[in-house]
Amino acid sequence: MYPYKTYTGTSASLATTSDRWVKAIVYQYKNSLLDTTTKRTKTATHEFRHALSVAHPTSSSTVAVMQQGVLNYYDLKTYDKDSLKAKGGK
Ligand SMILES: [Zn+2]
Repeated sequence: MYPYKTYTGTSASLATTSDRWVKAIVYQYKNSLLDTTTKRTKTATHEFRHALSVAHPTSSSTVAVMQQGVLNYYDLKTYDKDSLKAKGGK
């Protein structure tokens, strides 16, 4: 996923999770490890949360949909819920 803090017809500037994003482009590649409805839904959930400026956990041991890699976490875990609440959600 590529988040942008500015994006015009002639220039674009990549954003970090602390920037306000004006656009995010998400690519979902065909991958035999992810080629089930459940896993595509998990990937879409993960990438959508990035569009809400939620980052990956800083610890690789955190159990979360937002953890990177091909993992079997399909429902939202504590990190997933708390990280979105920290962005102003309820
Ligand atoms: Zn990610």
